[in-house]
Amino acid sequence: MDYTKQIQDIAGRLFSENKIDVFIGYRNTGFDENQVPVLINQYKDVDQLLFTDKSVFNLANYLKYEHTRNKRVGLVVKGCDSRALNLMLTEKQVKRENLYVVGIACKGVVDETGEMAQNCIECVMPDAVIFDEMLGTPSGRREYQENADVRELDGKTLTERQEYFEEVFESCIRCNACRHSCPLCYCAKCCIDQETATLFQGANTTSSAFHALMTWSLHLAGRCVDCRNCEKACPSHLPLHLLHKQNEKVIYGNFQEHLAGMIEEDRGAFYKYSLSDPDDFIM
Ligand code: SF4
Ligand code: SF4
Ligand code: SF4
Ligand code: SF4
Repeated sequence: MDYTKQIQDIAGRLFSENKIDVFIGYRNTGFDENQVPVLINQYKDVDQLLFTDKSVFNLANYLKYEHTRNKRVGLVVKGCDSRALNLMLTEKQVKRENLYVVGIACKGVVDETGEMAQNCIECVMPDAVIFDEMLGTPSGRREYQENADVRELDGKTLTERQEYFEEVFESCIRCNACRHSCPLCYCAKCCIDQETATLFQGANTTSSAFHALMTWSLHLAGRCVDCRNCEKACPSHLPLHLLHKQNEKVIYGNFQEHLAGMIEEDRGAFYKYSLSDPDDFIM
């Protein structure tokens, strides 16, 4: 998967026609084979842009910051990124008329071992669901499958699961990189910020991390698009997808097979209800 030339041409065209102020894409780190997001604001820099199976980050995250807010922005979105963008539009975080969206018919990105990332193997929608221009040949929606790690955890006893998560949360340093890297965490005042948190205390304890991360994951319930930006940002390499994929599974099973951001104007799982809901999953 290499759309480098096409993306450089599109960004160059948009700048020369004065249709955008900034283009959000990927560039090489400059010191290894990995890529980082880049914000280009002039024509002469478009040759920095590239797109391959190492273009892993969700660029919709950069729409929530000051340097792109209320500007005319071009950006590249894979299927998962575009689902986050859909939600940002529905939640009025960004204006559609300010965006030029280059959608990717994604073939999957690689993880740090060079193998296809787990979320790509399980991906339900590799093609961008919102775009002005699409690159590649769409392969269509795939069947939903339960996350392999969540299935494995489900096989453990409650005590085993508790022990496992206590160990996981113990490694959290409360840096909030997970929250900052999530496109759907855009609140100006966040309840889990250490300096403002009265509920969870600023202290970096396993218990405060547990409360903060559980609260965070519940704020993403029915909204998480499984891009794994949060997990890639975590300096402690916590398996944060376990929280989100568990929520996703419960919501898929109980809210009419809801998956976040799949369609434009989707109001989210909690707007889907039926008078015949048994509610038997609620504690
Ligand atoms: S999760 Fe899907 S859309 Fe996202 S990078 Fe992987 S294959 Fe592409
Ligand atoms: S919680 Fe993580 S995986 Fe889910 S949308 Fe946010 S960054 Fe992506
Ligand atoms: S964790 Fe909750 S309050 Fe904090 S930014 Fe995310 S959605 Fe907003
Ligand atoms: S990024 Fe990792 S270490 Fe930092 S707060 Fe989130 S889970 Fe904890």
